[in-house]
Amino acid sequence: MEHEVGHKAVPESPGVELASVLTARRGELSDSAFPTEADVIVVGAGPAGSSTAAFLAQRGLDVVLLEKSHFPREKVCGDGLTPRAVRMLTRLGINTSQQAGWQHNKGLRVYGSGAQGFELPWPQLADYPDYGLTCTRARLDDLLAGRAMALGAHLVTGATVSAPLLVGERIVGVRTADGHSVRAPIVVAADGNSARLAISMGRQRREDRPLGVAVRSYYTSPRHDDEWMESWLELWDGEPGRSHQLPGYGWVFPMGDGTCNVGLGMLNSSPAFGHTDYRGLMRRWLATTPGEWQFDEDHRTAPITGAALPMAFNRQPAYADGLLLVGDSGGAINPFNGEGISYAMECGELAADAIAEAHARGITTRASERALAGYPTALAARFGGYYRLGTIFVKLIGNPRIMHLCTTYGLPHRTLMVFVNKLLANLTDRHRGDAMDHVINGLSRVVPSV
Ligand SMILES: Cc1cc2nc3c(=O)[nH]c(=O)nc-3n(C[C@H](O)[C@H](O)[C@H](O)COP(=O)(O)OP(=O)(O)OC[C@H]3O[C@@H](n4cnc5c(N)ncnc54)[C@H](O)[C@@H]3O)c2cc1C
Repeated sequence: MEHEVGHKAVPESPGVELASVLTARRGELSDSAFPTEADVIVVGAGPAGSSTAAFLAQRGLDVVLLEKSHFPREKVCGDGLTPRAVRMLTRLGINTSQQAGWQHNKGLRVYGSGAQGFELPWPQLADYPDYGLTCTRARLDDLLAGRAMALGAHLVTGATVSAPLLVGERIVGVRTADGHSVRAPIVVAADGNSARLAISMGRQRREDRPLGVAVRSYYTSPRHDDEWMESWLELWDGEPGRSHQLPGYGWVFPMGDGTCNVGLGMLNSSPAFGHTDYRGLMRRWLATTPGEWQFDEDHRTAPITGAALPMAFNRQPAYADGLLLVGDSGGAINPFNGEGISYAMECGELAADAIAEAHARGITTRASERALAGYPTALAARFGGYYRLGTIFVKLIGNPRIMHLCTTYGLPHRTLMVFVNKLLANLTDRHRGDAMDHVINGLSRVVPSV
């Protein structure tokens, strides 16, 4: 099995530009050079794993990041980054300016119920920037893995983790499919929605949490450099206007490279979930968009592919027995809008905080275990109440009549939609916010955490 490894400790740079950074730093790794121990092992180098590794390396820990594929690699995604995700890129020292090659957007253009699309700019806030981005996952994930390496993490690609190494019930390392063993007192599962490492440690999926499915493709389109991301709130399980409205939305995200990422997502609170032909649904929806946008078979440049969206921390506990779950492996996707990249990265930073504190206290002591138990507490404090609200929201819109009422009567009200935009994208100021921020933050505080 061929592995590639990268490790380069460089000082923190003020800004890393969007470019493929990995290839130049890689060397081929002989079997004898495969790392055998570390302070922390991170399994999976998507946004969750690479951010965790970057923040851990920044905190001075020796990190091995194991990734089964080779970069650059594709990942099925909408490629949309809200201001929440932009903030996380900035926290990693990544320069997200247009000059550095990023495709910026101003906000959401929302369509529904016969209404004209109307524009909702990203809010002006102290805590978040006022622009979003689009970026293919091939480029984004390559960049993030490169950032982890630049900060000092050891990345090994082509390394498929196949099983945990256990002492009693505690994980003390991992084994790869080609027979290598790496040992560390702390392991982070960042292997995405398959969650194989978490499952192998007995963490089952919580059925009381929402789950989504989303599909997407790319189309060459004159809309490719539009300054707005689009949401289409009306998806029908049959003839538009004469069948049931589905809980979910379609999106058009301009990529700035001649194509748009076009897709749709749907929630399991609908009776139609599980027996919907998603590709057929997508084609039916796209047939209702203007012909000159070119969202048709002749202009499709990639297959229509999809994956599950695990939401509202549907796999718990986020820490036990030496294993932390970050990103999709812990089901960290926002149930309100299906966004997962920012939450994966935020999990990574909170996990790195807890692990660094545990190391400082002397790993595997009781005091260090208390620090690690602080990770689920930090997740609950930041997202718990909000995700609980999201779970209620998902149940409500699972009723086609409520979904129809929302799009028919809610959409024309601009003030209401500004509020909904903030709520769904989780974009409020914690302190100094406006009245809408206070309502959203207040509601998130009073409902019990998930
Ligand atoms: C169709 C679709 C559209 C979406 N659109 C958006 C969007 O526009 N914006 C947004 O924010 N979110 C979106 N999401 C959600 C988003 O893609 C995920 O939430 C996000 O990728 C989670 O990041 P992660 O690092 O947890 O997992 P992943 O991105 O899945 O990364 C997991 C990594 O682990 C590696 N891995 C897996 N198993 C092993 C193993 N055994 N050993 C070693 N490595 C392993 C994988 O190769 C991969 O690199 C979308 C999801 C779908 C399905």
